[in-house]
Amino acid sequence: MSQKLTAVIIEDEKNICRFMESVLAEESYKILTASTGTEGLSVIASQCPDIILLDLGLPDMDGMTIIQKVRQFTHTPIIVVSARAQEEEKVAALDCGANDYITKPFGTSELMTRIRTALRHSHRSKSSDSVYSCDGLVIDFEKRLISLNGEEIHLRRSNINSYPCWPDRPAKC
Ligand code: CA
Repeated sequence: MSQKLTAVIIEDEKNICRFMESVLAEESYKILTASTGTEGLSVIASQCPDIILLDLGLPDMDGMTIIQKVRQFTHTPIIVVSARAQEEEKVAALDCGANDYITKPFGTSELMTRIRTALRHSHRSKSSDSVYSCDGLVIDFEKRLISLNGEEIHLRRSNINSYPCWPDRPAKC
């Protein structure tokens, strides 16, 4: 059996959250939900989901801020789910790094089609990208950046030299 895909839903409107949950459960997704941006960011950093469904109007944080923060540590596809239908909002969300935008109200098939498309694109780009991420740790080999939960970690030569010796290679250190 193939491994379940994990979806994170960040949405404060309970009925919409429940609707998306039921659609994804039907497709055998593992679902994690968050009703605030802070909670959502910590779930994303700790669970490394395959897809993120994000409402823009959250009680503690604007969805745009969340997109920017998420993009600092992962390329996981983000589909914005919002009642804001203006073109500028969509453009701004996509410019911030969202992969797609779906306007409320929407139906089951539209939601699943958008998710499938976003996952297809992400699998395609994953094969050529050089980023490793898990549990909030991101190593970008191409950009030579390491971050943990969105915070960049600086490794300087002086730091590296002060690391303890490996037991099997004492002479080199
Ligand atoms: Ca909302």
